[in-house]
Amino acid sequence: MNPLPSSVICAGCGFPAPADDPFPFRCPNAGRGNDMDHVMTVVLDAAHLRWPGGREPNPFVRYRTLFHSYHLAAAHGMSDAEYVGLVERLDRAIAAVDGHGFTETPYGRSEALSAGFAPGGGLWVKDETGNVSGSHKARHLMGLLLHLEVVERIGLVPVAGGPPDLAIASCGNAALAAAAVARAADRRLQVFIPTVADPKVVARLRRLEAELTICPREEGLPGDPTYRRLRQAVRQGALPFTCQGSDNGLTIEGGKTLGYEMVSVLAEERHLLDRVFVQVGGGALASAVIQAFQDAVRLGVLARLPRIHAVQTRAVQPLARAYDGVADRIVDRIVREHGRRPAPPDGARERADLILASAASPLVEEELRDAVTHRSEFMWPWEQEPRSVAGGIIDDETYDWAAVVRGMIMTGGYPVAVSEETLLEANGLARSATGINVDPTGSAGLAGLLELKRKQEVGAEERVAVLFTGVQR
Ligand SMILES: [Zn+2]
Repeated sequence: MNPLPSSVICAGCGFPAPADDPFPFRCPNAGRGNDMDHVMTVVLDAAHLRWPGGREPNPFVRYRTLFHSYHLAAAHGMSDAEYVGLVERLDRAIAAVDGHGFTETPYGRSEALSAGFAPGGGLWVKDETGNVSGSHKARHLMGLLLHLEVVERIGLVPVAGGPPDLAIASCGNAALAAAAVARAADRRLQVFIPTVADPKVVARLRRLEAELTICPREEGLPGDPTYRRLRQAVRQGALPFTCQGSDNGLTIEGGKTLGYEMVSVLAEERHLLDRVFVQVGGGALASAVIQAFQDAVRLGVLARLPRIHAVQTRAVQPLARAYDGVADRIVDRIVREHGRRPAPPDGARERADLILASAASPLVEEELRDAVTHRSEFMWPWEQEPRSVAGGIIDDETYDWAAVVRGMIMTGGYPVAVSEETLLEANGLARSATGINVDPTGSAGLAGLLELKRKQEVGAEERVAVLFTGVQR
């Protein structure tokens, strides 16, 4: 077999999945007692790929040539038409379950939300609330489903005895998306939910025939009990059908289509963005958006990445803690090794700018590598049981922290923590200004922008984007 134009490699230890591995989801070295952060990551070979053109509305058709499952399919003799046929068949099945399939979601400048910006600047909104099952989560899971369908069709896994169960831990949009996508493909799905799950969500999951397990918090055990049960199910043979890159690295691929759609518009209009604010819970969305922009730079359609700002609620901010740890070490090294004595940075912006000015220096890469090999010094579960009006971003841990911290460090971005009041203010503004029925989690990126505007850290000429990710149910 010729080398594929994509490979799946652990971003932590560098383990390369064999090209015919049907399930290169989780690094085999994960959980071996070392302190490495293992996340299997699809790496594109830019020399053998081109940015997809055209205006095909289904992102899984339009960007198919950038998918690992497409490369696997082609290497095993599946034609382009067969792959497209597979996507379209699954998409029709999803439409039958959910009312509609995948189509490019709206992205444009919001006049009302651009008040205070100069005419060349402003705020662009990517609206995912009308996507399959009402959020961006279905993108992640459609990418996984496509991969599963391909490896079965090309004979990399035995089909006798039926496919293994799928499993996810979630009580919100991810579970709903997983259930809709799994139902469409007629696959059994186990869903691990907390005791506080929204009854409306639970009812919908039952209608979609998901198998629910309620997981109470256990005294003395930190971390998310639903997540512990998910890991148990996976050890017993279920496939991780999740939106966490650490459990299934391929989940990032489908999510990248959101960023790819933004990139296609930017490339067509010959614009760049200065900043993107992304709400972060588990971190898969931010990781996907960052990687989509990185792919675009590698393939030569974008000149540079925007500054990435991860937005978390002050109630739960394990990612900000991780970023601070890495950023402080980098600043220490800059001061020590460059023999310069820059004034200690006053705030987050000054520190990020100082780091950005040294981003090409090997010491930044060394510190990022060092962080990935000492996970427990940077990422651990939030100590308090999280509660927030933005219930979709209260993950105890940011599972995809390393990719997101790297994305911020290399772009001069930094995390923004917002209060409950700002989350509500942003949601009210988002809904009244745009008419989009977004929930407080889905508009949390806008809360991050409001916070930085109050601190006067966003210039009037800047072009800024936010993602409205989840519909208010
Ligand atoms: Zn690894």
